Amino acid sequence: MLPFCTADTDSSPKDSSSSNALETPLVGEHFGVLNRGFVRLVDSMGSDAAIVQAARVSYGKGTKKTREDRALIRYLMRHRHNSPFEMCELKLHVKLPVFVARQWVRHRTASLNEYSARYSEMREEFYVPNEPNGGDALFSEAHLGKQSQENRQGRSEDLTLAQKDKRSRLSARLEDRAHKAFAFYRELLEKGVSRELARITLPLSTYTEFYWKANLHNLFHFLELRLDTHAQEEIRLYAETIFEKIVRPLFPQASEAFQDYRLDSLDLSRGEVALLRGLVKGGEVVRPQGDFSQREWQTFLTRFSLREKDEG
Ligand SMILES: Cc1cc2nc3c(=O)[nH]c(=O)nc-3n(C[C@H](O)[C@H](O)[C@H](O)COP(=O)(O)OP(=O)(O)OC[C@H]3O[C@@H](n4cnc5c(N)ncnc54)[C@H](O)[C@@H]3O)c2cc1C
Repeated sequence: MLPFCTADTDSSPKDSSSSNALETPLVGEHFGVLNRGFVRLVDSMGSDAAIVQAARVSYGKGTKKTREDRALIRYLMRHRHNSPFEMCELKLHVKLPVFVARQWVRHRTASLNEYSARYSEMREEFYVPNEPNGGDALFSEAHLGKQSQENRQGRSEDLTLAQKDKRSRLSARLEDRAHKAFAFYRELLEKGVSRELARITLPLSTYTEFYWKANLHNLFHFLELRLDTHAQEEIRLYAETIFEKIVRPLFPQASEAFQDYRLDSLDLSRGEVALLRGLVKGGEVVRPQGDFSQREWQTFLTRFSLREKDEG
């Protein structure tokens, strides 16, 4: 199997294998992410209407007005009637750092074909947090933050000015280390070492590329997990780009329902439901006895902007 050729905007393969690719307005547009990355829609299948059409196979002809289509899509999303969303597909071309790709490929319900660094040489392109954007990035730049004390997997937001200064020096050192790794990579290649081995000296920040195809149901699942504040900032920027620049324009009603019933909704535990029921009936904000950890309690208070009743 031949890998697709790389990277660069102009030499990116033009996918003309599908007639939809030519018809969909966003096809081919590059949306910049991070300093060198991008997301590009290669092809798409379906629309809000296709979701409705599939659903009507199960529900009969029923309603037909746009307002009723919207209500049907919201009903499907709310009740997790997922299969109509699977009738739509998106094929994306994504350029991203290897460490982001590693998180991305955990989503098994998509098809993927990646640039082969065994077959072709890697370009000297790598990600450095805080490097100025290439000019076309859409969302706020990811930053080199301190280890968060609250979130063991994340970074903290609040840096003093002095720390920011230190941060940019660290960014410069990260950049320098990556350049050195690439210099050694080229040296290994010049000495005749195979590409598949020479690449092992390259940093996780090196950019790779893949084609990625998912149906809308699985794509929403990916977005739900990767738009969450617990996801790493870099992959979140990709998820934001995909959602806001590609999915929302192509599937406005499905995206609205996804936002309302997934992104901005909350899952509640049995304990939280019991607490809320008590509060609605005029109960006090007191941590219940039993199986409700301090962390869970704090999350509950934060989620509903509540203050615990003073013990005294
Ligand atoms: C904030 C965050 C932190 C994470 N931290 C870590 C970490 O520290 N270490 C780590 O290893 N991973 C980590 N992950 C990855 C995570 O565990 C999942 O692998 C990843 O999010 C993909 O989710 P998924 O399996 O639901 O998606 P997909 O692979 O797309 O699957 C979609 C759904 O299909 C079903 N499915 C797919 N394959 C199977 C299967 N083999 N068996 C049963 N059901 C299946 C499941 O219902 C699944 O939810 C993290 C993810 C996030 C978002």
